[in-house]
Amino acid sequence: MSEYLAKDLLTLAPYVPGEQPKDGAFVKLNTNENPYFPSRYAVSLITDKAIDDLRLYSDPTCAALRGAIAAHYGVGEKNVAVGNGSDEILAFAFRAFAENGVCFPDVTYGFYKVFAALFGAAAEIVPLREDFTVDAAQYADKKKLVVIANPNAQTGIYLPLSAVETLAESNRGSVVLVDEAYVDFGGESAVKLIGKYDNLLIVQTFSKSRSLAGARVGFALADEKLIADLERVKYSFNPYNVNRLSAILAKAAMEDVSYFADSTEKIVRTRESFAAELKKLGFSAIPSSANFIMAKHEKIGGAALYEKLKTRGILVRHFGEERIRDYVRVSIGTPENMRVFCEAAKEIIDGTKG
Ligand SMILES: *Cc1c(COP(=O)(O)O)cnc(C)c1O
Repeated sequence: MSEYLAKDLLTLAPYVPGEQPKDGAFVKLNTNENPYFPSRYAVSLITDKAIDDLRLYSDPTCAALRGAIAAHYGVGEKNVAVGNGSDEILAFAFRAFAENGVCFPDVTYGFYKVFAALFGAAAEIVPLREDFTVDAAQYADKKKLVVIANPNAQTGIYLPLSAVETLAESNRGSVVLVDEAYVDFGGESAVKLIGKYDNLLIVQTFSKSRSLAGARVGFALADEKLIADLERVKYSFNPYNVNRLSAILAKAAMEDVSYFADSTEKIVRTRESFAAELKKLGFSAIPSSANFIMAKHEKIGGAALYEKLKTRGILVRHFGEERIRDYVRVSIGTPENMRVFCEAAKEIIDGTKG
């Protein structure tokens, strides 16, 4: 740190991303990326012409991409905002709507508390129930930004739409942000409620279910006025926030519904067979509606299992927080990836005393 850094950033703890090792060195099951090649149709649109156009700024309104997202979800273009990854959308939302503070669960996406610190919003942490489910009743009438990931990050547990509606209904005075990064793997989007609740802000991403993590595109679905508020922040920060190539890829990926259906179905099927394998190996897992599974084993702690898998060339994620430190989070890769994981896990467990 230099002597020039703003004082309020001295104590800020930045987000720690999962490791991104050099290509091919690991079976990479640590950051919930999609194991499948992006839509071939989308990739086919990266032509010489598209590259020539890089000389020009991108469309600040992202009209084509927003149109495709709007058409897919049956909403108007003015109900859609796009960002440089959903992390950027989340940042805009914290800047726009957390003036009176923000609340979110104790076990959830780690970035929420970083944004709260960065934007000076007081964070209220609401513990999940013992079984890691969200108790919607604890979020009534908060008068501050409410943020819920659904399915929840780290746990994979899906909160039924009726409970999401309760959150929106019981917080008419503030924004309820539902981060649906994983919703395509086993939940129902709350997008159908945005016409009914002008305080409901849905955030989604192309990073997980559409195989475009490296393209950095995320989006928001909400009432026109909320979207205009997000745009107000965007135009005060980075008007050309989605680059030309990513906008082309994301638009086409949204339109390529059969590819999307096929690859998400494969991942869900792999998750279910992997869950069954974990059980056979003596793991206990949190039931997941996402593209990852949190699993623990009584014979080995989460940190030790993470390390031993790493020496065998398998990267998973371990979180040090007390409530989940016994677990490792394993992203769902290809069936072959999961076979390799299970083989290594079996060796490790058989080799530990207990
Ligand atoms: C992966 C993830 C994001 C970030 O997605 P990007 O669009 O890649 O920025 C946001 N929220 C949750 C819960 C995530 O898991």
